[in-house]
Amino acid sequence: MSTATILARIQALAAISEDHHCLTRTFGSMAFMKASQVILGWMQEAGLSARIDNIGNVRGRLISKNPHARTLVFASHFDTVVNAGKWDGPLGILMALDVVSSLEMDLPFHIEVVAFCDEEGVRFHTTYLGSKVLTGAFDRQQLEIQDAGGTTLGDAIRLMGGSPELLAADQIPPAQWLGYFEIHIEQGPVLYEKHIPVAIVTGIAGQQRSQLVFKGMAGHAGTVPMTMRQDALCCAAECIVMVEQWAMQHRDKVVATVGTLQVVHGASNVIPGEVVCSLDVRGEHIDTTELSHLLTAICEKRNISFEWNIVQETRPVKCNEELTGVLENAIQSTGIEIVKLVSGAGHDAVAVSAIAPVCMLFVRCFKGISHHPLEDVEPADIEASLQVAHAFIQQLIR
Ligand SMILES: [Zn+2]
Repeated sequence: MSTATILARIQALAAISEDHHCLTRTFGSMAFMKASQVILGWMQEAGLSARIDNIGNVRGRLISKNPHARTLVFASHFDTVVNAGKWDGPLGILMALDVVSSLEMDLPFHIEVVAFCDEEGVRFHTTYLGSKVLTGAFDRQQLEIQDAGGTTLGDAIRLMGGSPELLAADQIPPAQWLGYFEIHIEQGPVLYEKHIPVAIVTGIAGQQRSQLVFKGMAGHAGTVPMTMRQDALCCAAECIVMVEQWAMQHRDKVVATVGTLQVVHGASNVIPGEVVCSLDVRGEHIDTTELSHLLTAICEKRNISFEWNIVQETRPVKCNEELTGVLENAIQSTGIEIVKLVSGAGHDAVAVSAIAPVCMLFVRCFKGISHHPLEDVEPADIEASLQVAHAFIQQLIR
């Protein structure tokens, strides 16, 4: 295999979409099933013993003769967001196949290439369904979740030919894991700005998603004097700017975003009485105590009542130092400058890190654009990443 084959396969997968106008391939769709068959064929061609498991992961194993061998999982995902780019996910699977297909020596450990079925979570608003099954962390209550059309996850699995009853048997038990390696596009602009093809991922940011509620007093926009108002929107505006200032001050550690803003019963002639907005904070270590004090002070000054409701929290993940060290050596052996990044986006490595050491390699993408049709990767960067990945696996084998 080669960069040319990887490029051709990226195009082949990009053509398998549930929408004629753009690339969309969500968990369990016809396009998804077609793509899984294509990947299964490539795994068999690469000499792997391959199958599709009950949740829909495509898995190919290269077996070691060592009776005590554990398993190195080399993986990425093949589901997409709506109107996706063609590189997010598939690139890592195709790179893994390239590396594994060229291995000729006896392996001291098994290698399992896994094409995960549901990283983006578009259809059921779930994430990491495939990696959770692989690690044994799948919550069976999720089988009852329904998609927009009323189909449950359990039925979607049956329609794909899987059996919800057998999901537990598809896990790799904790004792059998050697480690986990994932190659993925960066989905951000750092490597593009630095003119460097790859980076080591040192960790995956934790995430805190909250809902902020500001309550003042609605009133007539023409009759209430400026000095007597409790304008919830003006207060929210000041708070949003404070969120930006706070994150800017701590920019080495966090990013923070207010992405939605709702003026309850808003009208052009009404002083806003209630405003609800979202707050998304991500970082290697998240502590929003200081921000909470700052926002509370603004609300007190403006006589606005303030609620901070945490909707979802994901813990940050640290990549394994030993595996990352091997990856660093591999990059050095190719002469590429070492760059270390924390991933602001989530990956299947988050789910795997609960039971096994994980490491990740980022590949530069055009202007950092991702989850968009303009997503792109240069052939030279595929070449560079392949060299690193080959060196990494060779060093692990030695
Ligand atoms: Zn992805």
